[in-house]
Amino acid sequence: MQERREAIKKLGSKEAGSIGMAMGIRKRRALIWAAALLLFFLLMLITPRIPQDESYHDFADQRQFFGIPNALDVISNFPFLVIGIIGLVLCLKKKYFSLRGEVWGWAFFFIGIAATAFGSSYYHLHPTDARLVWDRLPMTVAFASIMAVFIIERFDEWTGTVSILPLLAAGVISVAYWRYADDLRPYALVQFVPCIAIPAMAIVLPPKYTHSSFWLWAAGCYLLAKVMEALDKQIFTWTGQVVSGHTLKHLSAAMVPVFTMIMVVRRSEALERVSMLQRFKVHMKGATYEGPSDLVEPKQRVHEVEEFESLLQT
Ligand SMILES: [Zn+2]
Repeated sequence: MQERREAIKKLGSKEAGSIGMAMGIRKRRALIWAAALLLFFLLMLITPRIPQDESYHDFADQRQFFGIPNALDVISNFPFLVIGIIGLVLCLKKKYFSLRGEVWGWAFFFIGIAATAFGSSYYHLHPTDARLVWDRLPMTVAFASIMAVFIIERFDEWTGTVSILPLLAAGVISVAYWRYADDLRPYALVQFVPCIAIPAMAIVLPPKYTHSSFWLWAAGCYLLAKVMEALDKQIFTWTGQVVSGHTLKHLSAAMVPVFTMIMVVRRSEALERVSMLQRFKVHMKGATYEGPSDLVEPKQRVHEVEEFESLLQT
């Protein structure tokens, strides 16, 4: 039993430290920031400017109900408020978080979600560029903070926690840059990077907590929201003008914080930091990874860490 514990510890520390311990945390961090900035400036140099398309404000469903213009696109923001408030209440309960930085990250995320309800409703009541700022601003707050949360969970608490404010600033600057330079590239990046980085890191990097698959469900809902948004007019036609793609986009996007919230409530600290990709690799070899359990040993189950490691190496 003692030996097994030692082996688990060994694997845990090996996984947690596998992201370049040799280089030294500080150096690694500076290098990542420098590479990200370099890549950003390079992209800004080689890609053309993306101005805001004025037809963006021309939504399919412009019906007025109860005196509310564009009623369904306005009302469908209400779930963001409810979910944001529930999420903030969760942040007050210490039992769901083991690190202080996490509480700040999640609190900013749910503040962003709740504020989206107001910003997006304000925009959809009278869609213009000036109002779109208030729709996009809270969303970038949510994106930036969820990215920071993820860094805290998958890399380390310090890096993630000190990333919260710079990431929030990057989000706010990207919206301001779009408004004043009429160029959507930085804003598109702020949205695009977490959408790719979070599911990728959820699969490849060993998690601190259980229930990692909820990250993928959340990412799936966001992807669905983007599809709905693109098919605004088509969905309005297909549904016989009952509901538009943009209204459904709001509802799908609201499922993102729902999944992350369920994950926060249900998860517990992972006994070992084993990534989804590693589990998948073991699964492909015809075995099932069951963790450090003392339960009965059915055929083909890999309980022992050494055995699991050797399976990965074969
Ligand atoms: Zn909208």
